[in-house]
Amino acid sequence: MRLGIISALHEEQQGLVEAMQSPYKLIHGMREVWVGQLWEIDAVCVLSRIGKVAAAMTATLLVEKFGVTHILFTGVAGSADKSVHVGDIVVAESLVQHDMDASPLFPRHEVPLTGISHFASDQTMALQLLQAAGDFLDTELATTIDVQERAVFALQSPRIHRGLIGSGDQFVGSRERIQALGEALPGLLAVEMEGAAVAQVCFELGIPFGVIRTISDNANENAATDFMRFVKSVAARYAFCIVRQFCRQLGAGVQASKVSAGM
Ligand code: SAH
Repeated sequence: MRLGIISALHEEQQGLVEAMQSPYKLIHGMREVWVGQLWEIDAVCVLSRIGKVAAAMTATLLVEKFGVTHILFTGVAGSADKSVHVGDIVVAESLVQHDMDASPLFPRHEVPLTGISHFASDQTMALQLLQAAGDFLDTELATTIDVQERAVFALQSPRIHRGLIGSGDQFVGSRERIQALGEALPGLLAVEMEGAAVAQVCFELGIPFGVIRTISDNANENAATDFMRFVKSVAARYAFCIVRQFCRQLGAGVQASKVSAGM
């Protein structure tokens, strides 16, 4: 297994490159790509930058040029549902490009000539991410983010959700817009700008992938301010701890399968 880890912003991946064992950096396609080991897992870390094209390009690069076998996208997102609060975690079950609309030629949201609007993430990776997020909230949140900071961001008791994430080339920052998206896409939990593009690339290349997002804002008029504060102070620690839990679990799984195979 070689795990590709993508985030859109520097703050969402802070600490991971430093945690890598024997890292080396390659520059390709105007991106810094870090190759090394993360908690016993062969890993490649890269920032995609923002938006669907940037994300699609990055995912393709990781598979075609760096030979990754699995892709994990970590980052922040805006809430698209009343039950999803800032500080909660959303693991994608499926992803849709909320701004894809070739109607009336194709149904709204369907990616033309694929017949698909909702791209499903890998079930196993989704379960592993739910486990990693749960372990983080249960055992690490309290020590990683102190009480005062949790109060500032109203992170009383963050919850984990699993469901639909929508991606589009748009920062959603108005109540009307997020409501309209919610009405057009039943079950929509969060909005961001990259996940569904990675999902389409992985679907087409046959690569298992997972997307996990921490909610940074409510995609309303306060979204830009909330987003900036959250990304600066909290986002990196969530992402780092969840990826560490995820890799440790995978590492333990790899060890166990080596033992059972007598290697
Ligand atoms: N002004 C910011 C722009 C960030 S865009 C900057 O200069 O850095 C927002 C990023 O966070 C995207 O990568 C997107 O995936 C995610 N995101 C968080 N909240 C979002 C929202 N309300 N709408 C869309 N994307 C959001």
